[in-house]
Amino acid sequence: MTIDQSLIAKITAEIMARVQEQKQGAAGDGGIFTTIDEAVAAARAAQKQLKKLSIEKREELIKAMRQTSCDNAEKFAEMAVKESGMGRVADKVLKNKLVATKTPGTEDLKSEAWSGDCGLTLIEMGPYGVIGSITPTTNPSETVICNGIGMVAAGNAVVFSPHPTAKNTSLLTIKLLNEAIVKAGGPANLLTAVAEPSLEATNAMMQHPDINMLVATGGPAVVKAVMSAGKKAIGAGAGNPPAVVDETADIEKAAKDIIAGCSFDNNLPCIAEKEVIAVGSIADKLMAYMQRYGAYLISGQDIDRLAKVILTEKEELVAAGCTEKPKKIYGVNKNYVGKDAKYILSQIGINVPDSIRAVICETNADHPFVIEELMMPVLPIVQVKDIDEAIELAVKVEHGNRHTAIMHSKNVDNLTRLAKAIETTIFVKNAPSYAGIGVGGEGFTTFTIAGPTGEGLTSARSFTRQRRCVLVDALSIV
Ligand code: NAD
Repeated sequence: MTIDQSLIAKITAEIMARVQEQKQGAAGDGGIFTTIDEAVAAARAAQKQLKKLSIEKREELIKAMRQTSCDNAEKFAEMAVKESGMGRVADKVLKNKLVATKTPGTEDLKSEAWSGDCGLTLIEMGPYGVIGSITPTTNPSETVICNGIGMVAAGNAVVFSPHPTAKNTSLLTIKLLNEAIVKAGGPANLLTAVAEPSLEATNAMMQHPDINMLVATGGPAVVKAVMSAGKKAIGAGAGNPPAVVDETADIEKAAKDIIAGCSFDNNLPCIAEKEVIAVGSIADKLMAYMQRYGAYLISGQDIDRLAKVILTEKEELVAAGCTEKPKKIYGVNKNYVGKDAKYILSQIGINVPDSIRAVICETNADHPFVIEELMMPVLPIVQVKDIDEAIELAVKVEHGNRHTAIMHSKNVDNLTRLAKAIETTIFVKNAPSYAGIGVGGEGFTTFTIAGPTGEGLTSARSFTRQRRCVLVDALSIV
């Protein structure tokens, strides 16, 4: 066989390209770079290499990501609680293992075909390229694992922008996942980030021309930011999930489930029960059972004292000369987000054993505990006259987030009426809220629930572009 000049030139060019890709890969430490430009360039180079691998190989990389996430579930959980000061280690271990095992991989990608007189047309789900993923402090390793698996399964590389308060946990997760990918024969830097995450770095990432798609998991500000960036964006925003209980429910089970859901990881999950709306005739019984299952009931002045601790308060600005009294604007005191119920109660002089997992109290419908997304195990309970009032209030306090709602009832009509009225992405019936993300409920898991942009519970297919390929007059075999 003779080798001509053009073949030599082709081989040389291929070798040079590979060396260049590897050089870019070697610059970052496990995917962690100094600048956004470097992180994006390395992810871009890694995605080019990923494109050359078979789907079978991609699945091997995902298997390695799952294994490393399970192996390090405890380490990530301990680190996250220590670093962010939020949540419960045991619950975070469960969350890490959940995303490692129940986040869909490449099997989630489905092709479609039409065949007929004119031939064969095929729709395939292709990668976007490099995705910018902005992740929250409340589920730091969980979101990196979940987005990492789903986005790589879809053939993408990812530049993560983690919340600065969970920086070390997020960066370690990225690093260990990258190591697992490389060990399994994949490219370096499929997942990247900068060593010092900040709002400026996130903004630079969002505006970077080589970022093809943005995915934000967080509060309203970041969802608005990605949706205004002029790129394809998935926004997974805030929730304020109501749990409605009517008179037909199994009241003991409802109480047990609500306390389990609302106290899971100290109420950090966006899907967790944030307020209870109970039909009056069963409300006292429900609260009595809740106390049996780990809740501590406070009332009267203790509620006001707790409000002074866990809420921030300021007066609304009014125009000069306005005679109306300024309204109070409440917010959440971040120092208490994700803290143990025992610690929160100790701040108002109440000492309880470790077995207490949630604080409950009866409030009015317009109490700030009901209106604000507290993200701590403090659960207000509002009594209403009947199911009509319950549905109306649940819709109101969910604030149109269309995120999650929970209902305990045996009346199919009531269940259907709330589901139709509230239009949430997740609606859980007769179970703790976490059944909605695959814990004790059927279906896959995700920690990026895209209500505002409508993808719902995101998975690999959410991170793909549909592409059509048309062959005329052939390949149809009938
Ligand atoms: P957060 O909004 O403070 O931060 C989330 C991420 O967005 C962080 O990386 C942060 O640095 C970044 N960010 C915040 N404001 C930004 C802006 N203006 N521009 C660019 N980036 C910005 O939220 P958090 O405290 O980390 O997480 C809790 C919130 O996230 C809650 O509201 C919760 O309901 C929501 N959440 C939603 C989901 C979901 O799947 N829908 C999942 C988890 C958390």
